[in-house]
Amino acid sequence: MTYIENSIAALQLQGYKVTTPRISVLKVLDECVHPVSSYEVHDLLGKKSGINVVTIYRVLDLLQSLQLVHRVASLSKTGYMKCHLSDFSGCHHLLVCRKCYGIQEFAAPDFCRKSMKVPPTMEFEPEGHLYEIIGLCKSCLSVTP
Ligand SMILES: [Zn+2]
Ligand SMILES: [Zn+2]
Repeated sequence: MTYIENSIAALQLQGYKVTTPRISVLKVLDECVHPVSSYEVHDLLGKKSGINVVTIYRVLDLLQSLQLVHRVASLSKTGYMKCHLSDFSGCHHLLVCRKCYGIQEFAAPDFCRKSMKVPPTMEFEPEGHLYEIIGLCKSCLSVTP
């Protein structure tokens, strides 16, 4: 299944309608190599689409809640990118290259369980966490400065 097919299935499974703006945003993200902002998605869709930034932002928010899209917070600008893993259950961790902004992701349930262990004295019930690891990717490592 392609990313789009997978995403349509996930939307339907959760009872969400497959609308034109949702499909349009998914298609743009499917073609982006680097994280993009809601404004960049708007530019990529073009004026003809008739889809405004507010709608795009809402679509991205929904897709993010379904883990079809990830919000990358550690970049200087907020960016969204499609999920590269086909298993949407569980938590995905992002490896962010500080040089080329390339993103890779991995899932590691053990890792998650450990990071969700908050000291009991905090009296806090963890429900989720963000995880981004900053560094250099393989291709940037191989380039001498
Ligand atoms: Zn993912
Ligand atoms: Zn890189």
